[in-house]
Amino acid sequence: MSIEPSRSRPVLDPYVDRYAARTAGMTASEIRALFAVASRPEVVSLAGGMPNISGLPLDVVGHAINDLVLKDGPTAMQYGSGQGTPELREQITEIMRLEGIEAHADDVVVTVGSQQAVDLVTRIFCDPGDVVLCEAPSYVGALGVFKSYQCEVVHAEMDADGLIPDALRNAIRATKAAGKTIKFLYTIPNFHNPAGVTLSLERRHEVVEICAEEGILILEDNPYGLLGFDREPMPAMRSMSADNIIYLGSFSKTFAPGFRVGWALAPHTVREKLVLAQESATLCPPSFSQMAISAYLRDHDWQGQIKDFREMYRERRDAMIGALTDMMPPAVRWNVPDGGFYVWLTLPPGINAKAMLPRAVTARVAYVPGTAFFADGFGSSAMRLSFCYPTPERIREGVRRLAGVLEAEMELQSTFGIDDTTEMRLGLGPDNPSPNSI
Ligand code: PMP
Repeated sequence: MSIEPSRSRPVLDPYVDRYAARTAGMTASEIRALFAVASRPEVVSLAGGMPNISGLPLDVVGHAINDLVLKDGPTAMQYGSGQGTPELREQITEIMRLEGIEAHADDVVVTVGSQQAVDLVTRIFCDPGDVVLCEAPSYVGALGVFKSYQCEVVHAEMDADGLIPDALRNAIRATKAAGKTIKFLYTIPNFHNPAGVTLSLERRHEVVEICAEEGILILEDNPYGLLGFDREPMPAMRSMSADNIIYLGSFSKTFAPGFRVGWALAPHTVREKLVLAQESATLCPPSFSQMAISAYLRDHDWQGQIKDFREMYRERRDAMIGALTDMMPPAVRWNVPDGGFYVWLTLPPGINAKAMLPRAVTARVAYVPGTAFFADGFGSSAMRLSFCYPTPERIREGVRRLAGVLEAEMELQSTFGIDDTTEMRLGLGPDNPSPNSI
C-alpha cells in the first residue's frame, strides 16, 4: 500500500483558525521562495548567500571527526550543557579577541547558529508591539524573527559608512514620541547583509554613545567581521562597551554552516536568561558539532583557512565589480564592499526589481529584490547581488544576463513611461548615499 504525500491533497488547511496570532508574521522569505528556481543549474544565482566552503580541507575535518567519534564518542553523542561546552566557549573568547573583545567564557552562550541567538534575544526581550530598530535595509532572517514575535521594526538610514547616527537619533526620538517601547537596536556593523557597507570607527563610538545615553540595548550581529579583504578586522562595538551590548558571532562563514554553531556574548544577567531560553528551545546546542569545531580550532590552522576564504571571496568581489563596471547601464549604482558576500544595487527610477525578477529568471539569472530587506515595503528599486558562491566566470556571465534584462526593462520603460508606483527613496550609490528614511 502506498501513502500519498500530503502535498498532493487539496491545500485547505483545517487548522487555519487555530494558529497563534504570531504565525501571521511567518511567511516564506523572498529568498526561500527563490531557492527552487535559483538552484537550477542553468540559472546563475546571485541570490543566495551560501558560504563557499569548497576550499575547506575535508580530509582534515574528516580525520578530526573520526578521532572525535573514536575517542570522545559517548560524550559527543550525549546531551550537553545548555550554555555550550566549556572548551568551545573558551575558544570563542580567543576568536573575539581578534576584534578587540575581552570577555569571559562564562558570558558566552553557544547557539544553533547566530540565527538562533537572534531568536532567543528577541524571545527574552520582546512583547508584541515592541519596537526593534534596524538599519534600512536589514538582514531578512532577523526581520523574519522580529515579525514572528510581533515586533514593530523601525528602520534607520545608512550610507556608505553604515548606520547614520542622526538617522538613529531621529528614529529613537520619533518612536519615543509615539509612545512606543524600543527594546533594542539590531545592527550588522561589518560587510552588511544586504548593503555590503561597514560602519566606520567614529560611528561605532557614536552609535554606542547614543544607545548608552538613551538606555537602548544593542544587538551587534557580526557573522562576517573576519572576512575583510583589505585590512584587519575593525574593533567590535562590544569592545567599546560591555554594558548594554549583546554580541553575536558564528562559525557559518569562517568554517561551515552545516554544524549550525554560533554564539551570543551577553551581560551576565542577560546571559542567565538566554541559557534558560536556550534550554526551553533545544535543551542544549549540539554537543557533536561543538566538539567537532573545538577539534578543528585546536588542531588546524583556522586563521590560515580564513585567510584563504578572504582571498577567494575577494577574487569573486573583483569579478562582480569588474563585470558591473563593464556591463551595467550607466544609471545603475552599486557600492564596492571591502569584505563579506554582498553588493547592493540601486536601479534607475521606476525600475521595479521584484516585478523584473521573473524576466531575469527566464534569462537565467537570479537576485534578491530589495523589498525582502525592509519591513515596510520599501526597496523595490534595489536588489542584493551575492558574489560568494559562483565562480568568477559564472559571476561575469550572471551580470551579463542581468545587464541585458535591465536594458530591456529600461527600453520598455522609455517606450511606455515610468511606473510611478515604484518608490524611489532607496539608493546606496555615491550619488545617492542615503537609502531610506524611516
Ligand atoms: N546574521 C546575518 C547578518 C547573516 O547574514 C546570517 C546568515 N546569512 C545570520 C545572521 C545567520 O547565520 P548562522 O545562523 O548560520 O550563524
